Amino acid sequence: MENFNPFKMAQQQFDAVADKLNLEDGARALLREPERELHFTIPVRMDNGNVKVFKGFRIQHNTARGPAKGGIRFHPNETVDTVRALATWMTWKCAVANIPLGGGKGGIICDPREMSDTEQERLCRGWIRKNWDILGPEMDVPAPDVMTNGQHMLWMMDEYETIARARKPGVITGKILGVGGSLGRTQATGYGVIYTVREAIQDLGIKVRESTASIQGAGNVAQYACELFEEIGGKVVAMSCWDNNDKKAYTYSCENGIDPKYITSLSPDKITDKFGTIDPQKAQDLGWKKEDGDAWLSKKVNILLPCATENAIRGDNVDQIADTVKIIASGANGPIRQEADAVIKQRNIFLIPDFLANAGGVVCSYFEQVQNNMNYYWSSDEVLEKLNKIMVEAYRAVADLSRDKGVYMRDAAYMIAIQRVAQAAKYRGWV
Ligand code: GLU
Repeated sequence: MENFNPFKMAQQQFDAVADKLNLEDGARALLREPERELHFTIPVRMDNGNVKVFKGFRIQHNTARGPAKGGIRFHPNETVDTVRALATWMTWKCAVANIPLGGGKGGIICDPREMSDTEQERLCRGWIRKNWDILGPEMDVPAPDVMTNGQHMLWMMDEYETIARARKPGVITGKILGVGGSLGRTQATGYGVIYTVREAIQDLGIKVRESTASIQGAGNVAQYACELFEEIGGKVVAMSCWDNNDKKAYTYSCENGIDPKYITSLSPDKITDKFGTIDPQKAQDLGWKKEDGDAWLSKKVNILLPCATENAIRGDNVDQIADTVKIIASGANGPIRQEADAVIKQRNIFLIPDFLANAGGVVCSYFEQVQNNMNYYWSSDEVLEKLNKIMVEAYRAVADLSRDKGVYMRDAAYMIAIQRVAQAAKYRGWV
């Protein structure tokens, strides 16, 4: 995409709120840059015998409130500035959710869709070998993100534990059940999005039975957002996804509502693959209509859920949003550009910003670490109940501040998060 720099966007969002808060210069300088970055190469022996060298990163944005926390993305278009932005948003996400963790993010420039499992395993182990010494349950704890899953986390945990000569499941989260994983982690991000949407629906006096949503993405976040949205009584009429064969996105729509059993990863009837691509033939057999990739945005629904990647709603397409839309909740990180934000604000569409809406994943990661430390595991109901509580509290604090001070929801979320992190840095004597 044309020169989009997510880190510049993250810094501009921060600067605007730092101005409003009259944040001191020291805190401002500290919080607009990552604390530590590691850039490295990972040589991997491919199945054909040749060596391919991948570029990897781990970036720790801030650890004032606790160990750095955040996922690892595998993506061919990954850039260091994307990882910097995502690490920064993790700091705000953990702070707004009020969990005792900082912000970090990692990435590898690669396309796992074009790699065998054994090649991916060697890549995961190589990533750990290059940065294990800045990771650890008390220092920096990675997790899954775009195109990474529990299997990748397990290979990484195993490599770390082999080097550390100890069992340290809390070094990484999003693990497979039975090997340190937590019940509910697979659903957590998508469910968390809907916990906040459910509150917003109530606040705005919308009837959930009359609510319809259109979702961008069909990966982990989109899948479980769709499942819970329908469980609480709403209807998802469209979902878009990337088709790696055609190298373009499509929207699949179904007026009667997309049945989540066809898309969720844990369902035996799913027609999605592990990267969140919907099988076009099977979708056609189900009678779903196949449309252009962008069509999800212009659907006449009352809720839009961008749950794919950054840079989805921009100045050039924000006007496609139908006048029926009342709520936008960002399941993805950074899907809305500033120029689109301005239009959304002016049109009075209620925004649940990304680092609030999608905090459910990291909140459940935090629970996973707590369970790892105790070596005692909770039931799914217990995990989801605790998750619901934290998401509702975080949503309430932001929505109340937004209403009381008359500020945009994104700014209210930033105000809470920045103040918490700046305060921790101050108590530590850093600023
Ligand atoms: N990758 C997820 C996120 O962006 C989860 C991070 C985590 O669990 O640490 O929030």
